[in-house]
Amino acid sequence: MASEKEAAARIAELRDRLNEHNYRYYVLNSPTVSDREYDRDMEELIRLETEHPELADPNSPSRRVGSDLTAEFRSVAHRFPMLSLSNTYSIDEVRDFVNRVEKETAGASYVCELKFDGTAISLTYEGGRLVRAVTRGDGVTGDDVTDNVRTIRSIPLQLKGDDWPALFEIRGEIFIPLDVFKRLNAEREEAGEQLFANPRNAAAGTLKQQSSAVVARRGLDSFLYSLAGDDLPYDTHWENVRKARDWGFKVSDRMALCNSVEEIEKYITGTDSIRHALPYDTDGVVIKVNEYSVQRQMGTTSKAPRWAVAYKFKAEQALTELEKITFQVGRTGAVTPVANLRPVLLAGTTVKRASLHNADQISLLDVRERDWVYVEKGGEIIPKITGVELSRRPAGSVPFVYTDVCPQCGTPLEKIDGEARHYCPNQTACPPQIIGRIEHFIARRAMDIEGLGEETVTLLYEQGLVNDPADLYNLRAEQLSPLPRLGEKSADNIIRSIENSRNVPFHRVLYAIGIRFVGESTAKNLAAHFGSLDSIMTATAEQLAEAEEVGGKIAVSILDYFADEKNLTMLSRLRQAGLQFESAQKEFVSDQLNGFAFVISGSFQRHSRDELKELIELHGGKNLAAVSSNTDFLLAGERIGPSKLAKAKKLGVAIIDEAEFERMISTGDTRSRVSGETGAEALSTGDRGGQLDKTDTGDDTVTSNEATERVDCAGPEEGTVSGGPVQPELF
Ligand code: NAD
Repeated sequence: MASEKEAAARIAELRDRLNEHNYRYYVLNSPTVSDREYDRDMEELIRLETEHPELADPNSPSRRVGSDLTAEFRSVAHRFPMLSLSNTYSIDEVRDFVNRVEKETAGASYVCELKFDGTAISLTYEGGRLVRAVTRGDGVTGDDVTDNVRTIRSIPLQLKGDDWPALFEIRGEIFIPLDVFKRLNAEREEAGEQLFANPRNAAAGTLKQQSSAVVARRGLDSFLYSLAGDDLPYDTHWENVRKARDWGFKVSDRMALCNSVEEIEKYITGTDSIRHALPYDTDGVVIKVNEYSVQRQMGTTSKAPRWAVAYKFKAEQALTELEKITFQVGRTGAVTPVANLRPVLLAGTTVKRASLHNADQISLLDVRERDWVYVEKGGEIIPKITGVELSRRPAGSVPFVYTDVCPQCGTPLEKIDGEARHYCPNQTACPPQIIGRIEHFIARRAMDIEGLGEETVTLLYEQGLVNDPADLYNLRAEQLSPLPRLGEKSADNIIRSIENSRNVPFHRVLYAIGIRFVGESTAKNLAAHFGSLDSIMTATAEQLAEAEEVGGKIAVSILDYFADEKNLTMLSRLRQAGLQFESAQKEFVSDQLNGFAFVISGSFQRHSRDELKELIELHGGKNLAAVSSNTDFLLAGERIGPSKLAKAKKLGVAIIDEAEFERMISTGDTRSRVSGETGAEALSTGDRGGQLDKTDTGDDTVTSNEATERVDCAGPEEGTVSGGPVQPELF
């Protein structure tokens, strides 16, 4: 098991990476890694978080539904949360799932369905008419895309018959059929527009179009697969979904009602063998418990129902010729070998290029130019080479010799300890690195400078106007307006956006300057710990490693960055340009907690640990890392570290939960707790709801009761469901 420090650093790295992938996948609809890779990282994160419960965070991507929320649409609270699904690639895990259900209740039945590879939608019908269509969003609120959804022909605006509930919700998937997808991409290619990566991205991107007329032309389709409401006609998923077909909804006829694990396996195998012939993309099979009563009994985690599981199919493969291996250089100088392929159709798209990752991967596969190679794609955008068909290797073929100089600037390549990739060290003069760094600097989550696309940045660099991020602050509108595709208005907007970026907070500036391994979350931790760039620049490796989630590798990278004169010169120019190099001074909100010292442990429902720490400081209190006789309060969340809890009890430290803490800062009532209620007493008062009970089990389960609470807070506009039956058939 990794040490706490190592685990914290790795967890931070994985969270940063998964957050970035979520953003690319759900918001930009432009993923850069395969689903399989994403799922592997997620699996590792969940494992590390389980091994180190003290590092849990309610904002971790392992605990939240990936968000597709965008600023352009009105946000609407879901009446019932819209969750994700637990995924597996293994039949054994499907058997484990069935065993878990059987343990809960003997004789449950299961509905097996196709897992459509589109984007989730929730439709509300009132009096038989479609009144609202909302995307999954972050699971609690979604984007209102009703106008766009009204253009989808398979979604009824007025229901048939008269036996539908007066108010109900139906959820399903919006997708683009494969033939429509191909036509769409052919049209885009002809018009010189960027192609959609795959049908899922095309569907999700289309649903978020500003113009309903464009949506109408795109040929979206739908399958509906779950209902929710207080007056559904039946108590089972199967019967209700089939009934929905009578009301005019498009429901797949490939659903099956199964009564045993053998029947489920048969459905999975059968589907895998026919899915390529289907006119739409599927990436697996969803297995759901049929009876609502059992669903309710099993409840949900914060992210997915416990009564359903998605079995994902193995990636699809194609065989094609590898014509040439070329190299790409990224902003950090990382060199990635790329296989240029004879175009081949794979999972509905034509594949021309595939990633080869690094030199080790090439020699491991012994892949050579002119080899016939297997290419895989599992719902992903960048296909991978997974093997070589040796029987088709041409005579006289020689092993591929990896480049030892940068393909862009000729500088000898280097390797970093522990890294498989080669790097070009010529940071300041290698064109793709310079352009990549500027693109990173202006990105939305960094300095958020708008109006500068990849092509314009390249042009600015080629014209000698911008050579590093600091040059952006010397640009004038009259230098920009003559550039192709810009003009005066865009030039003025860009200059205004550059001006505004001077107010971007310090932690984002720290992320924007592009120190290797310093992602968003590490930058936040460094900014919170050190408060200013000057303090970070003068810190030793040991001091850097004192910041939360900073390990040795990151510390060394930070030291290297500041040891480089060129970086220092650029930073001093950015400083002159007026960027924020210090965290904003905190204004105290109150002195309610003045003189009190807190230790925080575990994870919390409404705040991350960093937020709680900040709240403590804003109200005049102090944060301590470990429980000691100087500690006044142990703020205890779910999965609290057992040693901290034991020590607090032994020392008589007051143990409070999140609700009690919130009460404290709003009322300032701290005395009774300190003098009276010690840990043991606090634990037995029973005013802490189920939180500590769950801690003891170490389970990440949200009970049905909590699910109801979430529903209540999530849907104030729609009224609450307390009292009425909770329909757990929802995600
Ligand atoms: P998911 O797509 O694995 O499963 C949940 C979704 O399945 C639901 O929201 C719904 O839209 C859909 N679905 C399709 N058919 C269904 C049916 N019959 N019944 C119920 N739901 C059905 O989960 P997710 O949370 O949307 O996405 C997580 C997955 O997406 C990850 O496991 C990963 O594979 C992929 N992902 C990839 C990247 C990347 O960069 N490649 C990034 C984020 C997520």
